[in-house]
Amino acid sequence: MTARILDGNALSARLRESLRQRAAELSARGCKPGLAVILVGEDPASQVYVRNKIKACEAVGLHSEKYAFPADVPPSEVLARIAALNADPAIHGILVQLPLPPQFDESAVLAAVAAEKDVDGFHAENVGLLVQGRPRFVSCTPLGVMKMLESEGVELAGREAVVVGRSNIVGKPMALLLVGASATVTVCHSRTRGLAAHVRRADILVAAVGRPRMISGDMVKPGAVVIDVGINRLREGPDAGKLCGDVDFASVKEVASLITPVPGGVGPMTITMLLANTIDGAARAAAHATH
Ligand code: NDP
Repeated sequence: MTARILDGNALSARLRESLRQRAAELSARGCKPGLAVILVGEDPASQVYVRNKIKACEAVGLHSEKYAFPADVPPSEVLARIAALNADPAIHGILVQLPLPPQFDESAVLAAVAAEKDVDGFHAENVGLLVQGRPRFVSCTPLGVMKMLESEGVELAGREAVVVGRSNIVGKPMALLLVGASATVTVCHSRTRGLAAHVRRADILVAAVGRPRMISGDMVKPGAVVIDVGINRLREGPDAGKLCGDVDFASVKEVASLITPVPGGVGPMTITMLLANTIDGAARAAAHATH
């Protein structure tokens, strides 16, 4: 079997078209969706991510604001900016680009963002709602994975799902979303014994580890749906310098029924879900204003 490739760029383009329409409708009602992005320091990767997020906002017709602070900024200054944005009716989403410099208590900064504007879904209140099966804002990457599965009509109820990785940003919310969709979910991590045996049971496999090509074809059940969240830059070998996922694409695509590539799989969906969350936030604010 050779797997079909699930193209995240194509799906993102389709979703962004409908997001553009929703943004236009909200703008016409006087509630243009607005995202504020906070960037601290000069980390080049973070600068690229922030630039891409702002560009994506503009392309879909969202209002965006960027607040850049030097690496040595006192945390109180950033917290004051967050407080002002929490109170700003033109802003429906606030995103703090991670990582923050060492003088910051990251969790305190994330907790300072109003839960109603926490488009990254990192606030404890939003995580709690997800645990309770009443999701409001959900972390963008796992949300994007769910949209990909939905777009392909992948059945989840009663099926074995294995998530490799248990981070707060990807693995844990991914597992909770799959539980919410009635899959039987196993979460693996660095202390898991017999990883391959767990992975081999998966009808749906999500790899979110950060280890290049660690999942090989012989670990995958024939016909499985394989979602590769990992983004790794290869340091050696003939592909040195290129990006790859946590899945060994060449061998796994011969076994799986559906697979996401890296790049061009989950990555573009993450930003698309950030736009979707911001628009959802604006829609909730508009509904609240009319009641
Ligand atoms: P983290 O480093 O926060 O988490 C990695 C997880 O993998 C941890 O739970 C860790 O276990 C687990 N792990 C590490 N080694 C092994 C191993 N040998 N076997 C099994 N599990 C292992 O990473 P993130 O969750 O933030 O990101 C994961 C990957 O996804 C990265 O490559 C990242 O770049 C990518 N990513 C991609 C996004 C996208 O838009 N496509 C967005 C976000 C991330 P333990 O908890 O025990 O340490």
